Amino acid sequence: MFRPTFILFFISILFSCENSREIDFAIVIHGGAGTILKKNMSKKMESAYDQKLKEALNIGYKILEDGGSSVDAVESTIKVLENSELFNAGKGSVLSNDEIVEMDASIMFGGNLNAGAISGVKTIKNPISAARTVMEKSEHVFLSGSGAELFAKSQGLEIIDNEYFITERRLNSLLNAKKRDSLKENKFGTVGCVALDKFGNITSGTSTGGMTNKKWNRVGDVPIIGSGTYANNKTCGISSTGWGEYFIRNVVAYDISSQIEYRGITLSEAAQNTLIKVKDLGGSGGVIGIDKKGNIVMDFNTEGMYRGYRKSNGESIIKIYK
Ligand code: ASP
Repeated sequence: MFRPTFILFFISILFSCENSREIDFAIVIHGGAGTILKKNMSKKMESAYDQKLKEALNIGYKILEDGGSSVDAVESTIKVLENSELFNAGKGSVLSNDEIVEMDASIMFGGNLNAGAISGVKTIKNPISAARTVMEKSEHVFLSGSGAELFAKSQGLEIIDNEYFITERRLNSLLNAKKRDSLKENKFGTVGCVALDKFGNITSGTSTGGMTNKKWNRVGDVPIIGSGTYANNKTCGISSTGWGEYFIRNVVAYDISSQIEYRGITLSEAAQNTLIKVKDLGGSGGVIGIDKKGNIVMDFNTEGMYRGYRKSNGESIIKIYK
């Protein structure tokens, strides 16, 4: 006969296996990587970035804390960053050679590998919401240009004139880039978020205006599932920022996930390996991610990356420089 103490012991082992996650829920964000140096940053700008990152992080965190889904947390967090002029996403996006804003975004849910993406949109106020709507309300994964805009409109998303997105700061950057006839930039202000909710579901999302002075409807890594964004509950969720062409060629987000899946290495080792490959090809940028246990990575091969995370165990951080 089993004694009650033995049965209790057995149940507690079962329970601890079920809940082998050290972290109940967690959220991590980025606001772009690049040559972000303290010496070039005014106190005022520094605190503006700091506050906006905190605001975004806290909105997502609260959703997770209240038992909300990682999809809701990622969308709401990214919307705060898209609505801020500080980042290269939504309002404040960089300008193309035609002096307009063309945006890309994507989202992926690690629970069933469902995903949604849009590219080259000019009038959708919150591109991340359009990506989510593609994921949840269409039979497709990736819509582009005017078709994506028509779809967003038909789903009741807010449509706004392109003028709304344009800021003086980005217009000046474009004029400088045009003088140099360059697409090469050393600052990337894309935004991204990865969240793990109480149910063990990981969602990743990324949103951007792309690169200053881009031509010919250039599309970067951000809306490409597996490059700018990837999520899989079995491994991790990733959002990237950097020189998109190099992130596409290295299939960055999926490369990190597959190293965990096939080689059994840690999230931070995997991210490091992939960023070395990006650098070896001549690219620069960074990634954020969360694995299924709630471990977080915020890695980059540039001078800085706007970034932060909050975990259910009380750990929290906002950082800009190396
Ligand atoms: N990855 C983005 C792109 O190439 C740029 C960025 O991260 O800021 O479109």
